[in-house]
Amino acid sequence: MKIENNFKKIVEILKKDDNFLITSHINLDGDAIGSELALNFVLKKLNKKSIILNQDKLPKIYRFLPESDKVYNLKENEFDKKISNVGIILDSSNIDRVGKISKILDNINIIINIDHHKSNENYGNINYIDHSASSVGEIIYDLIKYMNDVPVKTGMDLLDEKTSSCLFTAIMTDTGSFKYSNVSAKTFKIASELTAKGAKTDLIANNVYNKNTYSGLKLLGEALSTLEIDYSMGVAWLFITRKMLRETRANDEEIEGIIDIVTTLKNNEISILFRETNDNKIKVSFRSKSNFDVNKFASKFNGGGHPNSSGCLCSEKLEEVKEKILSELFKELIFQKIKNCPGEKGDASIN
Ligand code: 5GP
Ligand code: MN
Repeated sequence: MKIENNFKKIVEILKKDDNFLITSHINLDGDAIGSELALNFVLKKLNKKSIILNQDKLPKIYRFLPESDKVYNLKENEFDKKISNVGIILDSSNIDRVGKISKILDNINIIINIDHHKSNENYGNINYIDHSASSVGEIIYDLIKYMNDVPVKTGMDLLDEKTSSCLFTAIMTDTGSFKYSNVSAKTFKIASELTAKGAKTDLIANNVYNKNTYSGLKLLGEALSTLEIDYSMGVAWLFITRKMLRETRANDEEIEGIIDIVTTLKNNEISILFRETNDNKIKVSFRSKSNFDVNKFASKFNGGGHPNSSGCLCSEKLEEVKEKILSELFKELIFQKIKNCPGEKGDASIN
């Protein structure tokens, strides 16, 4: 399949078909949910039947979003094998990222793949992949603008207040509140228009970032007590075990954001969080503040993501995974240093 980046084709399908399945990746994030809801609003305005169905449950922090009760997950709902003609997959670089939803997608005729990951495998019948977009939220915004102009002319503004709030959430979360290198002038222009259209920016930020619980903060404390740093390489890492989750009474959703606190560390380039999942695997999250490409690095372990934010899933025990990943990382960093600064002692800071 090739990338065509053709809104015209997508819109033709949206107009022609009647039943749509909207889905996204496992471990839902703000971009996945915000983009799904925004697209669902568009389809409803076109009088289409559509359903948002993901493998995983909606994280609690996104329950404030308009019509978030319409975001279903597999466990809550039993669906016929054939639930729609068109599957729209958002924010997923490969088909396995949707988890068990892929079984449902096997019975769907047309797959539309909309994404901003460089590593996207163009698995759809139609692929709209924009690496320059900070988030899928930006791409859905572009699609809506296209539909508002020629040639759809629905006679109504598709960019209403609710849709704007969902898209703002998608963009805000995928840019780390407009801090990451994926932010462009266009990102701010879009954010500005969404705000003008009624996106409730303060309410969104409050719901996403200021809803820590006591147990969540206790878990943060436990996690930080495992923090290790290699100053010479600019690498910091920490871990979270099931025992820590049990003892603090925190749940998996409350892990979200902990890696970003490590990222605030001065002179640190790469942060890594190792955590035990509830199905005995180790989920690894990588963040980079330098030009070290953690997407490329995660792909060595069958993972992926973006140059500054990526992840992978390993099946060995925690200690083995730590050892495997850290030794590979240090090997690469030493190699890079030798390559970049011959005869000099390298400086891992980004200053
Ligand atoms: P997080 O660490 O927040 O779960 O994920 C950071 C980024 O890496 C996101 O863009 C996410 O989609 C991507 N990512 C995380 N885990 C995996 C994985 O196992 N495979 C792939 N392909 N991408 C991942
Ligand atoms: Mn995204």
